[in-house]
Amino acid sequence: MPEQTALLIRNAKVATMNESDDILDGCDILIRGDRIAAVEKNLAADPRSEGAAVRDASGLLAVPGLVNGHHHSPGNFMRGAIEDYPLEVFMLYEVPPLSDRPLPPRLNYVRTMLSSLEMLRTGTTAVFDDAFYVPVPTDESIRGIMQSYVDCGIRAAATLDQPLLVEYDKYPYLEELLPPAQRRAMRDAPRMTQEEMLAMYRKFIADWKGAAGGRVSPAVSCSAPQRVPPEYLAALDRLSEEHDLPYAVHILETKLQRVLGREKFGRSLVRYVHELGCISPRLEVIHAIWIDEPDMEVMASGGCTVSHQPLCNLRIGSGVMPFRRVRNHGIPVCLGTDESCTDDAVNMWNVAKLAGLIHHITNPDYRDWPTAREVLRCLFHGGARVLRHEHDLGVLAPGRLADIALLDLNALSFTPLNDVYRQMVFSENGSSVRTTIVAGNIVYDGGKILTVDEEALKAEARELAREYTATLAQSGEAADALEPYYREMYLRCAAQDVGMNRWAGPEYP
Ligand SMILES: [Zn+2]
Repeated sequence: MPEQTALLIRNAKVATMNESDDILDGCDILIRGDRIAAVEKNLAADPRSEGAAVRDASGLLAVPGLVNGHHHSPGNFMRGAIEDYPLEVFMLYEVPPLSDRPLPPRLNYVRTMLSSLEMLRTGTTAVFDDAFYVPVPTDESIRGIMQSYVDCGIRAAATLDQPLLVEYDKYPYLEELLPPAQRRAMRDAPRMTQEEMLAMYRKFIADWKGAAGGRVSPAVSCSAPQRVPPEYLAALDRLSEEHDLPYAVHILETKLQRVLGREKFGRSLVRYVHELGCISPRLEVIHAIWIDEPDMEVMASGGCTVSHQPLCNLRIGSGVMPFRRVRNHGIPVCLGTDESCTDDAVNMWNVAKLAGLIHHITNPDYRDWPTAREVLRCLFHGGARVLRHEHDLGVLAPGRLADIALLDLNALSFTPLNDVYRQMVFSENGSSVRTTIVAGNIVYDGGKILTVDEEALKAEARELAREYTATLAQSGEAADALEPYYREMYLRCAAQDVGMNRWAGPEYP
């Protein structure tokens, strides 16, 4: 990838996203190396700009690069492939519990590329990828994903999201519902031990920490507290502390998980994780929909960030995260797409728009509705925080990392221009992005990705997906056989009173 040493962006409108939400007209941005050196007017004649390549940005709006706070790149070949199911049934088709065939290593590389290309094209410059590996991770498959991030030029933190328990142990009632043959098959499916996974994590961190000048980084994930032993959950927290890495965990995404906490642990899964000492500022609590007030209190005191995926939550019917109550507790929120089969576009503008709208149907007091500025703070500042880049990303100011999107103010989204923030959230869909800059490098410009051969990669993806979708169809048949048992479990949980409701509308009182 060509390294940019100095770049002067001239005469842009700059939405700084600083504390006072300053919007600067006719402003220049000087980039040196991977950081912003100055955001001022008339930098062309300034000695600090000497030797910089000059880019005229008249008529363009400069915004911080968007951050996708939660994604699973391994879903990238399944866009539109799965019916509308609730999470527990959905995962049967997405991550078949009886699958034992490892994927070709090249597939991971190409598959990861697809969402990266989509994000770069729409101004998203950083992603937190909770990458899962079916059936288990290997050095080669890990390299496929990480090298893909190195080559495409996006900023990325990626995990090894690997459940360790037997499938039926991750759910309430499932073991008793399953026929003996299915139970046996699940018990015998390949799994790694926590010792093997921790050894793999140590190597993963040693191999990838600081990759691409720190742009690509390892992170840790236990997937969800009910999917791993408690000792492993706590060991990953220590690993994240030792290396200052973000720690991803899905908690209380669904009502079934609220029931599971009560049935299996005698308490909420948030409190279970809290009692293991794992709620910290490094922790990303993904979804946090079926949480109550005591959950929010421990989350606030632990300093974690909640990752909000409203589009995914609608697609698989999980419910609506209690945004205002979470924010009133002072808990930071970031936004994410989740994977390409639960939000079948990897487009943070769609997510921001829905985050700005969905909470209108859960609370009649319009003063509690998130404003466009608040949504953007979640998108930029919450995203920066969850990646452990709170003071590096999310604001266009000197000293910050140079991750920037340039949008065309001549686009219909901004015509006429009434309010930059509201039009970013409610009008823009990513089609106005003209240039995307990551760590000071121009990676997308004028309709073209500059780092990799996009057309060749898409052709290769179509080729690789052919065999993959055939395998997926096979495992779909196995999922069909299991679906009635999962449905029964799901409905049994849906009917219970858990002391809260996170579904909108009159059908569920
Ligand atoms: Zn997820």
